[in-house]
Amino acid sequence: MMQDITKNRTSERNEKQRKTAREIIEQYDGPPVRIMEVCGTHTHEIFRLGIRKLLPKQVELISGPGCPVCVTPVGFIDEAVWLALQAGVTVCTFGDLVRVPGTKMSLAGAREKGAKIQIVYSPADAEKYARLHPEEQVVFLSVGFETTTPSSCLSVKKAKEEQLENYSILTANKTMPGAYEALKGSADVFLYPGHVNAITGTALCESLTKEGVSGVVAGFTAKELLTALAVSLKRYQEGKPFFVNCYPRVVTAEGSKEAQRLVDELMESCDSEWRGLGVIPDSGMKLRKEWEMFDARVKYQIPEMEGRANPACRCGDVLQGKCKPSDCKVFGKVCTPQHPVGACMVSNEGACSAYFMYGV
Ligand code: SF4
Repeated sequence: MMQDITKNRTSERNEKQRKTAREIIEQYDGPPVRIMEVCGTHTHEIFRLGIRKLLPKQVELISGPGCPVCVTPVGFIDEAVWLALQAGVTVCTFGDLVRVPGTKMSLAGAREKGAKIQIVYSPADAEKYARLHPEEQVVFLSVGFETTTPSSCLSVKKAKEEQLENYSILTANKTMPGAYEALKGSADVFLYPGHVNAITGTALCESLTKEGVSGVVAGFTAKELLTALAVSLKRYQEGKPFFVNCYPRVVTAEGSKEAQRLVDELMESCDSEWRGLGVIPDSGMKLRKEWEMFDARVKYQIPEMEGRANPACRCGDVLQGKCKPSDCKVFGKVCTPQHPVGACMVSNEGACSAYFMYGV
């Protein structure tokens, strides 16, 4: 009984707080503001929870480059297709990547030509697959940001311990700092991706305020998102660059030291190409020399791939907040989740798929 009363009071208090944040958002009468959802999950959650409908006209939400599949360039898909078509190679990948168009074909197209593509839910699954299938050469497509890179490293470490010679990874891992630099000026406030900050900590985002960049770290529940938006609007009106961690139950100033140490042991930074943003210096991660026996690019001597996107596709502009998915001429006509023309329509975290799914 006592527990019920406490629970009810907590829920009443939460409801009150939510309303307060909601009121701040609904009653905002400050200057026009563009807020970038860096993370694709934020884009989808904000749509799903109906938060967009609360926003006054002068508050514009724009999507950013935080969907790992979306920012992976066409050249990487071409490399993966090339690998998949080599005799004896099995490509292990997250399901989203299979339908992303390459220059000539997607991995789904390669599968129709006989390539062996195995869908996995983690790099650990791929490493396990390699262990159980010693007759196959297994390559895991390692895409993602600071959040997923540690698990790729862990799979490589395990493969070494188990002396697996048939496991390697094709890296397209990216880090956010370079993207923030490249996107400076695209938005007034960044909604930083909470799960990335859980690994990296908050030092970088805090230091960006010195360069005039404002942002808040946001969580993923309705309350966390409303709070993050309300704080953004309140602080924006004060007219000074700001940083606030609105996800303190998960994000600390120093981040996850264990994950940082693991990545540092196996990987080093490299220049990396981002769809729409081009090559950003030091914005990628690759295996260090001492781990290169697990680097698929080195192991298979993959030829350079230039990668050409469909000229009608505006994913690059969408990812930089330069246009909305609905501004793309083929959105919802030629390009749909069933027949995607670009990566942003394929991925569950993609802005185009969110706009399509929620009927914008
Ligand atoms: Fe690319 Fe399709 Fe989005 Fe247009 S609607 S930008 S073609 S993914």
